[in-house]
Amino acid sequence: MGRSADQPRVRQGDQTRVDDTGCHFLHVDMDAFFASVEIRRNPELRGKPVVVGGPENRGVVAAASYEARKYGVRSAMPMSRALRLCPHAVVIGGNHADYGAVSREVMAILRDVTPLVQPLSLDEAFLDIRGAIRLLGSPREIATAIRARVEQQLGLTCSVGVASVMFVAKIASTRCKPDGMMIVPADRVLDFLHPLPVSALWGVGPRTEQRLRALGIQTVADVALARFETLRSNIGAAAATHLRQLATGIDNRPVVPERVEKSIGAEETYLYDLVDSDRVVTELHKLCQKVGTRLRTADMRAKSVALKLRTPDFTTLSRSRVLPGPTDVARELFGTARELWTEFERTELNGRGLRLLGVRAEKLSQPDDAPEQLTFDTVERDPGWAQAERAIDQLVSRYGAGALRPAALLQRSSDATSSTPTRQIIREEPRANPAD
Ligand SMILES: [Mg+2]
Repeated sequence: MGRSADQPRVRQGDQTRVDDTGCHFLHVDMDAFFASVEIRRNPELRGKPVVVGGPENRGVVAAASYEARKYGVRSAMPMSRALRLCPHAVVIGGNHADYGAVSREVMAILRDVTPLVQPLSLDEAFLDIRGAIRLLGSPREIATAIRARVEQQLGLTCSVGVASVMFVAKIASTRCKPDGMMIVPADRVLDFLHPLPVSALWGVGPRTEQRLRALGIQTVADVALARFETLRSNIGAAAATHLRQLATGIDNRPVVPERVEKSIGAEETYLYDLVDSDRVVTELHKLCQKVGTRLRTADMRAKSVALKLRTPDFTTLSRSRVLPGPTDVARELFGTARELWTEFERTELNGRGLRLLGVRAEKLSQPDDAPEQLTFDTVERDPGWAQAERAIDQLVSRYGAGALRPAALLQRSSDATSSTPTRQIIREEPRANPAD
């Protein structure tokens, strides 16, 4: 429902007088999360339009501060467009490991309120506070306390929606941003929902919105009032049932306290196309290092790895393969990702260059769910790599990303993947410009 971020902030009125009886659901959403973390790190950025995202010419915006949003900059927008809208924006590459660490602090604050926390991404979560109300106070008091604690402890702001229906809490948090709280009283849910555009409903993407508009359905009220048969024959039975329920204020999903990550990946869009195979292998190794760090940060292991390539004519190719065993070790991801690359190179690429390269760890589980000793058919694993990579994590967390990197990444040759692990860790060269 990221699109609803474009909806204007609404007047919140005096939230202290709104009836919060029965408002068991909270949706907590950090404000401009990545950008705010960067501003916290470098206070000189405060008040400036800050955009977090990939290389200027080809990347996309991952997050924009509210100052940048004033110029129309939005998440998922191509960076080139963002810079046309806001030429003086401060562009920051971003540091995913940092965001993961701050996210864990946010989630820990929320889990102090209730174990029923369902993260939707790094920076937002649903809470079911039914049980917490007896101990901690009214929904309003709990929401206020969360906001205060996030600000005091983390120096960041969040917005909180409070409602009796789960998805309504999410819409409310979006509409009180930034740094706001909005309570939707249980007996006012339909009054709140019905004037909203259909795109505010969970699951209505641009295509569904277009189809609904073609039927003259513009608002949530229109969905509630339309003939069910009309909805069904145009968007299918499942979507029709789902939207009708939402439009009448029904959302029976429970808050499921689980990790939301279905996959963890890293990709890079290059300023100039990659044409040299050795260079691709080196870049692949770097991406696997990133993904390995992210897996370990999230305390997850992957059972398969996917490789994504994009050629200069924007053809996107991807393929995945099951790993020898569940892993969070970059070295092991790299072994399989490299096999996939070799196949692509041989069969489908025909010498075309690459403008984008991506690695994604999939079929994630937590270490407890997938004991290592059950992977009978694996190649012999070298626990040394897991230890070495964890040691790098610790050093990086102390001295900053980019301070250290395995020696193999400096070699740019096939012996980077030889069967003898290069355990030596040496200082990284100045970061190579992707253009070189
Ligand atoms: Mg957010």
